[in-house]
Amino acid sequence: MPIHEKSLIRQENLIEHEKLEIDGIDVSGHWSTFIQTRVVTDYNEDMETEVAALPGGEHIHRCWQCGSCTNACTVNAINPDFNPRYWIYLTRIGMEAELLRDKDIIWQCISCNKCTYACPRDVNPEGVMKALSHWLELKGHTEKSPSMHFDEVFSEQVFQTGKIEEGRTIRRFFARTGQELNQDWLVEMIIRMVRHLPVKLLFAMGLQSVLKPRTRGWGKARDAIHEYVAEKDAEHRKALKLDPPHGPA
Ligand code: SF4
Ligand code: SF4
Repeated sequence: MPIHEKSLIRQENLIEHEKLEIDGIDVSGHWSTFIQTRVVTDYNEDMETEVAALPGGEHIHRCWQCGSCTNACTVNAINPDFNPRYWIYLTRIGMEAELLRDKDIIWQCISCNKCTYACPRDVNPEGVMKALSHWLELKGHTEKSPSMHFDEVFSEQVFQTGKIEEGRTIRRFFARTGQELNQDWLVEMIIRMVRHLPVKLLFAMGLQSVLKPRTRGWGKARDAIHEYVAEKDAEHRKALKLDPPHGPA
């Protein structure tokens, strides 16, 4: 039987015989293409539940595989391997090993939310991408992604001070991801800011970076946030059957 959509099958799963004759008919080369039989035995039956337990993944069960998310996706337009619909499918049926083949690109979601607006089932595919990245990291399949580092640096500053100072966020993000602060695009951005922003605003920004502003009376809110985050972290680890982060609870 001819294989119409050969491009959708991984090259390593296609077998061709250089020389093959069947009933006196020469079917050598692409005429004898076969798809290798695949038996999957390593399903992770808890995978959907695990991803659904993480923030953003709650509505993954609603997906009906229409593909509108992938059609609308900004990153898919550049890299066809970036396929939210397919990853949601793999997660729902528990094909962990198959999903792991794409583990190094899932974090590349830029959170534009075009998929979220396109989804007719309110799955929140952008949230599912975040949950999947988090799941991969918690399970030890990937290192912390740059976007995860950024989220952490951002959150730590808000928890600590109740405010965000962009300069400090960028400096800490670069330090944590081992990047030089002297980046061409950053230098260019600063030059443009100096050229185009009002002096008063630049002065206020500079002052904030030195004074490290914090919200007055933030202490109680900070403690409550820390407690809540620790509680949620423990919940997520429990859902994934992982040990608590700092010894037994
Ligand atoms: S939020 Fe992520 S998955 Fe959704 S369209 Fe944007 S890049 Fe694609
Ligand atoms: S748009 Fe929504 S329902 Fe359709 S495949 Fe994507 S997540 Fe599933």
